[in-house]
Amino acid sequence: MPISDKKDFYQILDVPRNATPEEIKKAYRKAALKYHPDRNPGDKGAEERFKEASEAYAVLSDPKKRQVYDQFGYDGLRGGPGAGDFGGFTDISEIFGSFSDILGDLFGMDMGGGRRGSRRGDDLRYDLTITLKEAALGCEKTLEVPRYEPCESCSGTGAAPGSRPKLCPRCHGAGQVRFSQGFFSVSRTCDRCGGAGRTIDTPCGACQGRGLALKKRKLTVRIPEGVDNGVRLRMSGEGEAGLGDAPPGDLYIYLSVQSHPLFERQGDDLVCSVPITFVDACLGGEIEVPTLTEKVRMKIPAGTQSGKVFKLRGQGMPNPRGYGRGDILVRVHVEVPTQLTARQKELLREFAEISGERAYPEKKSFLDRLAEMFS
Ligand SMILES: [Zn+2]
Ligand SMILES: [Zn+2]
Repeated sequence: MPISDKKDFYQILDVPRNATPEEIKKAYRKAALKYHPDRNPGDKGAEERFKEASEAYAVLSDPKKRQVYDQFGYDGLRGGPGAGDFGGFTDISEIFGSFSDILGDLFGMDMGGGRRGSRRGDDLRYDLTITLKEAALGCEKTLEVPRYEPCESCSGTGAAPGSRPKLCPRCHGAGQVRFSQGFFSVSRTCDRCGGAGRTIDTPCGACQGRGLALKKRKLTVRIPEGVDNGVRLRMSGEGEAGLGDAPPGDLYIYLSVQSHPLFERQGDDLVCSVPITFVDACLGGEIEVPTLTEKVRMKIPAGTQSGKVFKLRGQGMPNPRGYGRGDILVRVHVEVPTQLTARQKELLREFAEISGERAYPEKKSFLDRLAEMFS
């Protein structure tokens, strides 16, 4: 047992006597990576070095033990003068505790041994496309979700009907096996049962012993009003079944909203571009515009310019956080006729002749400024 009485713990980890806890930890990680028995199978020398480094680290990483060691040396830790309550190396588990954490994150091992073959079910993603109207009003959708659920033939045990899974003879149900290699020990997933803690002699034919079967499950989901593209809804517990006693995963519904032929969404507002005739623009009139649910008539005043925006207040999208509704913004533009008959042209020329500058105040003001600029 006294593997280190000749060597100095600081020398073993190759750190100075005034090394900081970080330096000591770093040095131990380095040594552990280099000499870990998993990386050096069958190499007794490496194993010894690993044990030495672990022992050195167990002492130097503990401020109380390090103080005793600095003052009294190895004998101090073994119950010699000054050992006091520190108890030297008798408490092996305490030492395990100090370096199992490091091994855990160095080698990705599960040192806890508490999982016992149960694993939470996977989360599922479902992409759902809805219309703008559905997004505005909210809706209910029925989804068919293919997912793994506990097998009905074996009730999820994986054992053929009439038989039962047995306690794994190697790990006795723990799902983990503890290896002791001299001074230290490591828990690993049991290779006999794969961590499940049970073995199955006669696997269920329906699920090949997995205990899970692929099912198409119909789910009804309520889509809240006001949702937008990219919104993700979570249905807790509607993912795949877990293994053993573990809970199922969640179902995530990723929403996309179809583009609408007439509306473009801007936040909570809906923008609709509406062409009007130049006659309506001049004389005013009534035009037809859409809301999300119906057609409505809207008055435009005489002299409406192209690009003018009219608001249908409160007719837009509901705010998803409950802050009322947006508006419908009707943006009119004047459509200029392109195919004119001789008679139409004649009328327009006549119109032009009798329309003086006063008919076009904007144009007049522009021309005045232009003239000033080059005068
Ligand atoms: Zn089955
Ligand atoms: Zn086992």
